Formats: sequence, structure tokens, C-alpha cells
Amino acid sequence: KYDVLIVGAGHGGAQAAIALRQNKFEGSIALLGDEPELPYERPPLSKEYLSGEKAFERLLIRNAAFWEERRVALLPGRTVTAVDPVAHEVTADGEPIGYGRLIWATGGKPRRLACDGHDLAGIHTVRTRADVDRMMAELDGVARVAVVGGGYIGLEAAAVLAKLGKQVTVIEALDRVLARVAGAPLSRFFEAEHRAHGVEIRLGAQVEAIEGEVRVTGVRLANGEVIPADMAIVGIGILPAVEPLLAAGAVGGNGVLVDAQCRTSLADVFAIGDCALHVNRYAADTAVRLESVQNANDQANVAAKTICGVEASYDAVPWFWSNQYDLKLQTVGISAGHDAAVVRGDPAARSFSLVYYRRGRVIALDCVNAVKDYVQGRRLVVEGLAVDPAAIVDASVPIKEIAS
Ligand code: FAD
Repeated sequence: KYDVLIVGAGHGGAQAAIALRQNKFEGSIALLGDEPELPYERPPLSKEYLSGEKAFERLLIRNAAFWEERRVALLPGRTVTAVDPVAHEVTADGEPIGYGRLIWATGGKPRRLACDGHDLAGIHTVRTRADVDRMMAELDGVARVAVVGGGYIGLEAAAVLAKLGKQVTVIEALDRVLARVAGAPLSRFFEAEHRAHGVEIRLGAQVEAIEGEVRVTGVRLANGEVIPADMAIVGIGILPAVEPLLAAGAVGGNGVLVDAQCRTSLADVFAIGDCALHVNRYAADTAVRLESVQNANDQANVAAKTICGVEASYDAVPWFWSNQYDLKLQTVGISAGHDAAVVRGDPAARSFSLVYYRRGRVIALDCVNAVKDYVQGRRLVVEGLAVDPAAIVDASVPIKEIAS
């Protein structure tokens, strides 16, 4: 039995263990996860790791000695299939493990295609190191790659593969890339950038089937067209890995519902990170799941403090980044639900920001190669300032001057 058992050894799980010790937690801690590696950073998987610029060792969140010194028992390669909230016990690979407090930090599993040919060789998702290693091992024999899904992960992978000399086609079902997370000007900007780098972008394109005998040879669209491909990368989102908790009676659905202290409806069970459905004041007080390192780390800190009896509430401003080619996108706030968006600066100069408003107040910024806007724009979002859109479009005036 462990005083705190953390299930899921990714960003949130690792940070929860770190934060427990930072807050002087003296009890026993175990960090259990189904991957074989020490906890590592996931964002480089579609960026510097896929491109070969960063070796895996540089992705580790902490080295083995750190976990040993902090007396965090690592239990890698184990999968929790059931939770008994009354007995305070989980089942991992058939074996019971007791807990005093349970922190559920399992993230999500990639959604897969369900069409004909979805299980052919050469079809990949991008969630774990193993996923990316499998993909990289095949790359030498691959000339044409179809990326299904024009979200951040798909676009990042497309950028890396284009740089590696592959002929890449991005297939997006909606009428623009990044449609779920960004405004149209940002989508159009990234579409143009990818096209300028030789990536083909197909919008409003439904995948009907993956073609091939043993290995993928192409992707058939609903209009009958076949896009030839030796590899397909599927980046169409994740399903939160919460079945054992829901089966145990936790309230939730698309994720496990948590309160501002990251407590689930089950006694002594917390949930954090991608799998945690929480009411977020930056999403107009609606219940959302956020898929970002920021959210995983900040919720981990709140859960750890709560366990240590230190008062804490999750109230952090969301932020996120994405690197494609030489473009550094940084976002702050949640743009979904905006009723207006203005472009600050000149997209043609490849340095600009998109400023999102709801009812006259700034709710989010997407900043492309515009670090100052990102840093100074945070305050606009945190304070929900009603900055004049006519003033903010002038990028020659720093945001901090406009806001004061
Ligand atoms: P994870 O880090 O996914 O960790 C969950 C762990 O639990 C995994 O190891 C999983 O296999 C394991 N697990 C699941 N179920 C079980 C079970 N039943 N038993 C045992 N173990 C289990 N975010 C950013 O902010 N910026 C970025 O640029 C960015 N880029 C990304 C690029 C890629 C390719 C990916 C995949 C994600 C990216 N993200 C990025 C998102 C970010 O990585 C996640 O939000 C973050 O990892 C969430 O942390 P987590 O602890 O909730 O889940």
C-alpha cells in the first residue's frame, strides 16, 4: 500500500510526485504507468524528437537518481484496469495495489480511424515514444505521407516530415486547419505556410478508407479521389483514459469531473491533466478538458498541495505552444467562444498576433513569432481587459502601453 498512488507517469503524474515532495509530503509515493520509460516530455515527440534533433534522454522530465532520492517508487509498464474506491485499491495487471490517496493522471489514448483499412501496416498515431519510434523506423522507405487531421500534432508532424524531404498531404475534414482551436486568420496563415513548404492541404476532405493489401498505399476520400501514401499519420484527437474511474462510479463522461482542488466525486481520488474535466474560468466557467503541459503541471501542483493540507485552487491562465518550421506559436487564454478576433501586426511579415474578444473583453491571444505580445498579452486575458480593438491592431505600440 502507498500513501499516494499516482496512476499515469506522464506530465501530470510526474509533476504531482515532484510537488508532493516540494510540499514536504513524507509518506510513501508510487508513480505507476503503462509505458516502459522514465517520465518524459511529450511535446517534442512531434517536433525535435521526430526530426532527430533531440535524443530521447533529453526528453526525460527527471533522471532515475532524482526519483530515487525523492523516494518515489516507479512502477513502469503496468496498466490499471479497475479501481475499488471503498477498499482504496486499484488492480494493475491483475494485482491489487492499495492507496491512501489516488491521483489519476492517465491522459488519453489517440482516437483511431474506424474505416476500412484502418489496421493496415504503416498507419501511426503520435502519443508515445513507442508510437514515434515505430514511425521513425519506417521513414527511410517512405516517400509520401498522408496526415489525417489538421490539428496541432498533425501539422507539427507534417512540418518535420516535409523538412525531412517527404511529400506530405494533410487531410482535414473541416474547411480549415486548427478549426477547433483557433480563429480563421491563424488557420489561413498556417495553411499558406505549409503550402509554401511543399505540403499539400486538403480541406473539407472526408476519409472513406485506407487502401492497401498489407501496408497502406493510399487514402481514399469520400469524393473517390485516392491520395497515394506509403505512410499515414492519424492525428484526430484523444479519448480520455478514464474507463476504470467511471466504472468505479466517478462522475464524468468526456473525462472525470473534478472540483477546484482536483478532487473527483470519489473519496480520496484526484484527477489531473488531459483526463480531468473541470470548470475553467477562462472558458466562460464551462466544464472543459485542457490538453496542455501547463494544465497538467498546474493541476498536479493543486492536487499535491491539497493532499498536503496547503490551501490551493486551480485558477491558472491556460497557455500552450506549437513549433512549425521556424514559426513559434504561443497562445494564452482559450479562444473558443470568441465573438470577435482582430489581427495585430502583419501575417505577411510572419510576426503577428490574433487577439480574441468576447463581449468586448480580451479572452485569448495567439502569437506567432511575437514573444512580446505573448508576455504582455497575458495580463489582458487574466484581467479580461476591454482594450480598444482599433488600438490593438497597431503592432508598433507595445501591448503594455495600450493596456495601461
Ligand atoms: P500524459 O502525459 O499523456 O500521461 C499519461 C500517462 O498515463 C501515459 O503514459 C499513459 O500511457 C498512461 N496511462 C493511461 N492509462 C493508463 C492506465 N490505465 N494505467 C497505467 N497508465 C496509464 N502540450 C503543450 O502544452 N504544448 C505542446 O507543444 C504539446 N505538444 C504535444 C505533442 C504531442 C505529439 C502530444 C502527444 C502532446 C502534446 N501536448 C502539448 C500535450 C501534452 O503533452 C499533454 O497535455 C500532457 O502530456 C498531458 O499530461 P497528462 O499527465 O495528463 O497525460
